[in-house]
Formats: sequence, C-alpha cells, structure tokens
Amino acid sequence: MTRIVNTSLMRKIKKHGAGRNLDVSACFNCGNCTAVCPLAADSGGFPRRVIRMAQVGMEQELLASEELWRCYACGECTQTCPRQADPAAFMAAARSYAIAGYDFTGLAALANRSALGNLAVFAVFSAVFSALLLSRMNPGHPNFPLFDFLPGEWIHQIGVALFVVVGLSMFSGIASMTWRIWRQSRSQGATLHFAALPGAVFSALSDALFHRRFQQCEAESDAEVLAAQPWYQRPWLVHASVMGGFLAMLLATTLDFLLKPIGSTVPPWYPMRILGTAGGIVCLYGLSIVLLRRAQGKEHPYKKSSFADWFFPVLLTVTVLTGILSELIVYLPSPTTFGHVVFFAHVVLAMDLVALLPLTKFAHVLYRTLALALFAWRHAPAAAAASVGVEA
Ligand code: SF4
Ligand code: SF4
Repeated sequence: MTRIVNTSLMRKIKKHGAGRNLDVSACFNCGNCTAVCPLAADSGGFPRRVIRMAQVGMEQELLASEELWRCYACGECTQTCPRQADPAAFMAAARSYAIAGYDFTGLAALANRSALGNLAVFAVFSAVFSALLLSRMNPGHPNFPLFDFLPGEWIHQIGVALFVVVGLSMFSGIASMTWRIWRQSRSQGATLHFAALPGAVFSALSDALFHRRFQQCEAESDAEVLAAQPWYQRPWLVHASVMGGFLAMLLATTLDFLLKPIGSTVPPWYPMRILGTAGGIVCLYGLSIVLLRRAQGKEHPYKKSSFADWFFPVLLTVTVLTGILSELIVYLPSPTTFGHVVFFAHVVLAMDLVALLPLTKFAHVLYRTLALALFAWRHAPAAAAASVGVEA
C-alpha cells in the first residue's frame, strides 16, 4: 500500500486547540501513557500510537483513527508523561484537526485554528441569520407579542432550511470519516459483518448516552482526586448534564415545531415547555461547573484552554439564558423592547449553535459516537467468537 507522508502534519495539528503549547516532539515513545490510560486496554495503542502517527506524518492513518475519539480527555496520561509531552492535550488538538479534515468547506479549519477565525465564522453566521430575521421583523410596537414581532412562520422556515444544510454538512463529515476508517480496516484485512451492525450501533448509542466509558475512565483514575470530588461534580456527570440538557432542549424545540401551532402560546405546564426548561436548568448546571473549572485552570482537562474551549460553553450558556428569559417574557402582559431584543438575540444564537454543530468542538458528539459504533462493529465478530471459546 502506498503511504503518503505529510511532513508538516505536527505543525498543522499544533495550530489547533491548546496545541500551540505542546511539545509532542519530546515524546520518546516510552509507552507510559498507554500503560496508565484507563481506556487503552481494549485498543492497546492509544495515545502513544496516535502521537507516533503525527510525529512521522501519517496524516491519512491519523484521520482514519477511531482511537482519537475513544479518549475522554481525563488527563491521566499527561500527569505521568516523563517528557511533559502532554498527550491528553495532543489528543484534543488532533481531534480538532480531524474535525477540520472531515469538513470539505474549509469552514471548520478556519473556525478551529484561531480565535479570529472562530469569531469570523460566528460573525458571518450571526449576520446572515440577523439579516434574514430583520427582513420580516415587525417592530411596530414594544407591546407586540414575541411571535408577532418575529413571525413564527418565518423562524420555522429558516429553521427547516438550516436543519437541511446542517444535516447535509453532517452527512458529508460522517461519510468522510466512515470512508477513511473503512478503507483502513480493509487494508488491515478486517472483515465487517453486516449482521453485527445493529448491535454495534446500539452499544455506541448507549455508551454515548450513559457515558459508560467516561465513567470507566474516571473509576480507574487517581483515587485521591476522585475522593476529593463530591459525586455531583464528577466530570462524567458534568459532561452528561451539558449534553443531556442540550438534547432535552433540542427535543423540546423540535416537538414544539411539530406538534404546536406555530407562534401559539401554551401554558407553563405544557409538557414540551417543562422538558425545555428542565433541560435548560440541567445544562446551565453543567456549564457553570465547566466554566468555573476552566477559569480556575487547576485540573485536567481544564488546565490548558484554547479560545475554542471557552467559546462553545460561553455561547451555549448565553443561548440557554436568553431562551429561559424569552420563555418568561412570553407570559408578561407586554414584552417591551427589552423582551424583543432578548428574543431576537436568542433566535440568532440558537441558529448559530445549530450551524456551528458540524464545524466546531461540538462535532465530537457526532464523531465520537460514530467511532464507537465502528469500533464495536469491527470487533464484534472477535467478541462473539471469544464468547463461545473460539480463538479469534
Ligand atoms: S507521550 Fe509521554 S508517556 Fe506517552 S509515550 Fe510519549 S513520552 Fe512516553
Ligand atoms: S486523556 Fe485519559 S483517556 Fe485520553 S489518552 Fe490520556 S489517559 Fe487515555
């Protein structure tokens, strides 16, 4: 098989995330990180193998590596690296590089490489959504109900178009990643059995939803650190709060659009409203801990934060807060100009979030789940064979 070597691979990866401060060239491949990684047992190679790929310029192999996505950034490896090569930060930077590599538009590369690029992409999206909303805005009177001020039907139409574009973008990213992993698997002689696919998908989805590997990662990490943290501040629970809260809000918004007459007002006890509000509160809980830990910068993986590490939780926090405020404003006798401004900002930010989904750090939700499914699929026959006592 022809192997293409990209001699500038390490330099390119270092432009991502907190990669600028990395000195992965110091890694002398001792394997300590692999030995201490709580999740390396079922792979036998990461993070050391992925670091090696980057060092020798194996770009295609790195982009086809499921291992990138099976790391949960606990930082165990960084704490024990004898060369201070910071493998955990390298893995995060390499994931960001991979997100850019799967996106054909070049927007992900722009958004992930620098604070300026990130802000530029955000500003362009915000300008487009603002212009679209302004084109039908009805600022006649500060007492106009929110969905008369910004017609609900128009928000709905923009939302549908946005979901179609983002869906296509996500599909192309997923196809790019799957194709690379598939090609790599075939070149290594792996056989994929379609009968094992549903089981693999189920296992990956339940892993992602219940944070099973994240919990495993934590359970096997430093006992002292673990004991010092109350259960409600454990990293897996904090991550699950952000993700679960966000999914609940997304589900409530989608069901609202599908089941409720557009722009109509519902009582506060309407099930979708309760789901959305509860999701918002849970999400805010997780976000507040993430932001606090990033500000303190004392523990992994919050010690080194790039602009992108800050940008996403801040954007999500402001979107949730304006969403909760908008919900309250709906029930006021008069929304006032302040209410209109908050609602306008919320709609634009919510659209920004959806548009940025396949381009930023946020995309790890997609790629990690896919990588877990492909890994489970690739290893399903061996597992089945092992379970009946046959050597793989
Ligand atoms: S990153 Fe550090 S611990 Fe891992 S192989 Fe390199 S030198 Fe060893
Ligand atoms: S950050 Fe944690 S999960 Fe990731 S490679 Fe290091 S030890 Fe393993």
